[in-house]
Amino acid sequence: MPIQQHRDSPSILLECPMRLQSGSIPKSHLLPKALYKTVRGDGPNPHPLHIAPGNWHQSSFQDWAHLLCFDCAQRLHRGGEEWTLRHLLKKDGTFRLRDKIVAKSQCLTSDSFTAYQVDIDAGVDFDQLAYFTDSVIWKGGAHPWRGYGNQITLGSRYFEEFRRYLVNEGAFPENASFHIDITRP
Ligand SMILES: [Zn+2]
Repeated sequence: MPIQQHRDSPSILLECPMRLQSGSIPKSHLLPKALYKTVRGDGPNPHPLHIAPGNWHQSSFQDWAHLLCFDCAQRLHRGGEEWTLRHLLKKDGTFRLRDKIVAKSQCLTSDSFTAYQVDIDAGVDFDQLAYFTDSVIWKGGAHPWRGYGNQITLGSRYFEEFRRYLVNEGAFPENASFHIDITRP
């Protein structure tokens, strides 16, 4: 619940839904701010494609809200964002995550996809990837964002289990899994 808003301040006072404590809440992005730079194109309209039910368009708009306290935002950054962003496809064509997976894995290939069984020593930090994935999904359910009336709902059980995992109070949620798709260059 909003308590007080400081005009001309980048933060407002709210309860952080991750730590369940009131405090100063700066802007936080649904997707990491740095990610938007990596998905910009080079043409006359370089903005990323935004897709919603019945609606798509290119826009420089970035989804942000006064949602998380500084400590929680830092925890998400160190827990998964930093590693994941470092390993994503870069504009110069480097793609560290794919390089690591391809170098040390057994693969099963069909015409439409390749499935990889990644070696334990491939240098792919699945804990960081899981944490990053959980953090985006949980943030998606913690705020309406631009859902055009639709909001992601995790249900009270999974919303709380994801939250406890993200604040290091619980294990990865039972019966949850995540899948990683890697596009071919
Ligand atoms: Zn917090």
